[in-house]
Amino acid sequence: MRQKSVLITGASRGIGAETARRFAREGYAVALNYHRSEEQAMALARALREEGCRILPIRADVSDPEQVGKMVDSVLEEFCQLDTLVCNAGIGSTGLFTDLDYTSWQRIFAVNLDGIYHCCQAVLPHFLHQKDGRIITLSSVWGMVGGSCEVAYSASKAAVIGLTKALAKELGPSHITVNCVAPGVIETEMNGNLSHEELEALREECPLGTLGTTADVAETILFLASEKGRFFTGQVLSPNGGFVI
Ligand code: NAP
Repeated sequence: MRQKSVLITGASRGIGAETARRFAREGYAVALNYHRSEEQAMALARALREEGCRILPIRADVSDPEQVGKMVDSVLEEFCQLDTLVCNAGIGSTGLFTDLDYTSWQRIFAVNLDGIYHCCQAVLPHFLHQKDGRIITLSSVWGMVGGSCEVAYSASKAAVIGLTKALAKELGPSHITVNCVAPGVIETEMNGNLSHEELEALREECPLGTLGTTADVAETILFLASEKGRFFTGQVLSPNGGFVI
């Protein structure tokens, strides 16, 4: 049977790294994108290769269309085809809206939203040609309900949901699915700026009484990419422990 392949953006750390592990152990050839964390990306690639997995670590800033174009070309050259694109790369920011300068606002949108635009644009000619493909975007519960002191992040993640739904309608007839995973609070470096007390308060707000793990999110992404997820498109799946119902 042909080996399936996936490109995961922002796979050097956190949710992306766990998703790379999960797909690789499921038998996928994995293109593991990173931007700044080269050492972590290479260490992950090495560890997975030692397990016998096929891994292509590849540096690109998703906000740069030229770098994204070259990345997708390299992936197609190496794997000859691509089944799934996971648009996971993202950055957060916290602070009062009145303190948010325009440069920071633009950078958040450049990575969280434009990054997805560039990746989809680069991959779609291939998906349309093969009349098959899975796109999975990463939003957040803050994109669903808005987070205080996270206006730019929430706005960018709400836009990801809009992009996902509209693109799913457009690409359905070409047998390409587009779905969104919108996690609740997950223990990664992205939440490293939160104090122990703040994390405890978020945990208490969660009906299940626990914060999420990267594995909870990776499993949801893998489901949407798998045969079991074939009838899902334009959907937002939110592993959030009941934080948002
Ligand atoms: P994280 O631990 O901070 O990791 C972020 C990843 O994104 C890193 O691998 C980073 O790569 C990559 N990245 C950042 N800017 C990039 C760029 N310009 N080009 C390419 N890669 C870039 O974050 P995380 O918690 O795993 O979050 C992953 C996704 O889930 C994000 O979209 C985030 O918004 C979303 N999410 C997270 C949570 C949460 O509670 N953690 C909740 C909801 C949604 P380098 O380090 O190599 O630069």
